[in-house]
Amino acid sequence: MSAIKAKTIEGQLVNIDPSSLDLLKTNIHGKVITPQDDEYNEARAIWNGMIDRHPALIIQCSGTADVITAVRFAKEHHLLISVRGAGHNIAGRSLEDHVLLIDLSKLRYVFVDPEEATATVSPGATLADLDHEAQMYGLALPVGINSTTGVAGLTLGGGFGWLSRKYGMTIDSLISAEVITVDGDRIICSENKNSELFWAIRGGGGNFGIVTSFKFRLHKVGPTLFSGPVVFDLKEAKNVYQRYREFCKDAPDEVTVWTVIRHCPPFPFVDSAYHNKPVLILVGIYSGPIEQGKKILSRLKELGKPIGDGLAPYPFKAFQQLFDPFLGHGARNYWKTHNFKNLDDGLIDTLLEYAAKLPSLYTELFLAQVGGETNRIAKDATAYPHRDINFVMNVHTRWEEKNDDKSCITWARDFFEASKPFATGGAYVNFISEGDDNLEGAYSENIEKLAAVKAKYDPKNVLRSNLNISPKR
Ligand SMILES: Cc1cc2nc3c(=O)[nH]c(=O)nc-3n(C[C@H](O)[C@H](O)[C@H](O)COP(=O)(O)OP(=O)(O)OC[C@H]3O[C@@H](n4cnc5c(N)ncnc54)[C@H](O)[C@@H]3O)c2cc1C
Repeated sequence: MSAIKAKTIEGQLVNIDPSSLDLLKTNIHGKVITPQDDEYNEARAIWNGMIDRHPALIIQCSGTADVITAVRFAKEHHLLISVRGAGHNIAGRSLEDHVLLIDLSKLRYVFVDPEEATATVSPGATLADLDHEAQMYGLALPVGINSTTGVAGLTLGGGFGWLSRKYGMTIDSLISAEVITVDGDRIICSENKNSELFWAIRGGGGNFGIVTSFKFRLHKVGPTLFSGPVVFDLKEAKNVYQRYREFCKDAPDEVTVWTVIRHCPPFPFVDSAYHNKPVLILVGIYSGPIEQGKKILSRLKELGKPIGDGLAPYPFKAFQQLFDPFLGHGARNYWKTHNFKNLDDGLIDTLLEYAAKLPSLYTELFLAQVGGETNRIAKDATAYPHRDINFVMNVHTRWEEKNDDKSCITWARDFFEASKPFATGGAYVNFISEGDDNLEGAYSENIEKLAAVKAKYDPKNVLRSNLNISPKR
């Protein structure tokens, strides 16, 4: 094996000699992968196909012991570390050129205790891994809407999805976590133990240490819930959005309805003349009794004249995977995001102006309904500060050819600017794309306290491959 070049915390490239690498290999139970290995390109591939970066070294950990060994190796050589959960981050923050990548994606263990209604989750587990175990007992955690997303990165940013209006953000169900610090120390944190660290990892991203285990409180859900899509012709969209706005005002916490404008999938319940044409889709779920859900969600069909609907009782586990076919691995993706308190008419007009010129077949204009329980927690109770918003916009700009990068990214940026006057200025850290480091927007008034916790746990900023909180402010 020849020497490899890796980046130090001072930003220099240094040689790691073959004998150090050999020793590392003998101490790692998982795999040590270098650019010279055949599996290197596969090991560095992540969800967003636009991100093409080359870590110096990938350590695919088999457990906490490997994480500690990897961290100590990095410390000995003064190396920068990046951390990968399931590799789903839009900005590709798990990958940097020349860093030591601690890859946790093989650690997908989920242990559910049905008696105490908790789950202990390893840091490479996906939402599907979690749902599979928890739904066996009719239990669930509020997480996101695409089942291949990692529990780890999602939780560290806050985490929300179909159940959040009822049960809060993902972090609001976090009981404790095991964290390996950049010195290789193991720390358990919770409300009562190392509580500053516990506060910071609930929204402050991967800035403070490497989380090797999460323990969550679970909630009784389903396993079957009334849910599904209602589809409208885009010509009707303004009227539907305005009535949806009213619908949301008095919706109970059990109701969550997200809206998306996209090219119509080949739904069997929509006339094929609409397939692949832009439409407005309302997707709703009721996290309570099926009959009650049917009664309330059927009102969505009265918000306009639907061209079809798929409302029905669905297994919650299957519903969690509804969007998976549209959000697969490897395409080119660039997202823009805003938080909103209200859906102003001006915002609706802007949405529709840009919906009329979607830049690709796969682009989606998402509006997630939040509020409910997510807003009943104080802004400074956890690092996640956005406790007063009712909608999160996420523009999923998505395409296949590199040649389309410019037109797709320009469209997304233009729409972002046009919709800015209606937004709060805050942004969900996990939806921020590469190069758009809106630090103040993401961490808001919690930034000073986050910097103090960073200074305590990572004063040299070894973990900077994230929406980075500098220890010096
Ligand atoms: C298609 C799609 C749909 C999504 N939908 C939702 C949604 O509905 N709701 C929602 O809340 N979010 C959603 N997200 C955003 C998602 O929360 C983030 O992409 C998140 O970063 C994914 O976590 P991961 O572990 O897969 O990420 P990775 O890319 O593996 O990691 C991202 C970053 O998190 C940090 N990190 C990850 N694991 C650890 C760890 N164990 N210890 C320390 N730091 C760590 C690191 O800084 C890393 O760079 C979605 C993302 C995608 C791509």
